[in-house]
This record gives sequence, C-alpha cells and structure tokens, in this order.
Amino acid sequence: MKISSEDQKSQMCTNAYCCCKCASQYPIFAHPWNSGPFKGSISTRLGWGCLIEGRITFFDFEHTECEMFTPKYDENDFQSALKAIDAEIGYIFDKEELFLEKFGKGNIMNLTTVSFASTSVKIVYVLDCGQHVSDSVPMDDYLAWRGKQ
Ligand SMILES: [Zn+2]
Repeated sequence: MKISSEDQKSQMCTNAYCCCKCASQYPIFAHPWNSGPFKGSISTRLGWGCLIEGRITFFDFEHTECEMFTPKYDENDFQSALKAIDAEIGYIFDKEELFLEKFGKGNIMNLTTVSFASTSVKIVYVLDCGQHVSDSVPMDDYLAWRGKQ
C-alpha cells in the first residue's frame, strides 16, 4: 500500500475545520499478522480512521472536512489560553485589592463572573465573609492597564 506524503502537508494545512485538526481522526497502522494490503510493520501508516459513534471509516487521505468536526485538544493552545486568563486575573485582583481597601470587608474568596462589554468590564466576586461584590471598570481603564503590560 502506498503511503502518501501527507505528513509534510499537515504542517501547512490552513483549513481550521480540516479532519487533520479533528479529534475523531486517528492514524491507522499495518500489522505483520495481516494478509494483503494491511500486512506490514506496525510503524507503517496505512491511512486515517474517522471514529464516530463506535464505527471507524477508513480514509487513504488525511485532509478533508465534514459536519461532525470536533476540535482536537491542543496542549499549546491550552497553555496560551491559561496565560491569557492569568493576565486578566492579575488585572482583576490588583484592581479589586484597591477596591476592597476602600470599600470592602474581607478577602476575595471566589471570582464568579468577569464579563466584557464595549464600555466596561464587570467583575463579580464573593468575599470570605460571604458578601457578594460587583464592580464595574471603565473599558478605557482596562485598556490603559493592558497597554502597560
Ligand atoms: Zn488538514
């Protein structure tokens, strides 16, 4: 069975909804006990399997798309998302520390909501005394802080 040069192509695949970025796609390898075209080394890739609802459909190509697309978990995306959230949390807690010094009666126990609107950032949290506090920051203040990062 012919192995295509799809490996190099997957690095360049620009279709965000391509099968190569789908969690249902798995590589399919040969086994020496097989007969016919599926016989071979376990390191020989024969093609691609699409696993949906307990059934695997074989593809001899890697790149296409369908309506069942489910994004693959990506550790790098996850880490950069965490970093982005971390930066926002830094802002929110720095900001709320000052707010609490002025008006509050305790420490922040839990952050419950952060929402961004066109003119403001709304922050809702719970203090260790049980008090719920809602704060609204003008978007300009938030953007000024982002500019300093
Ligand atoms: Zn692709």
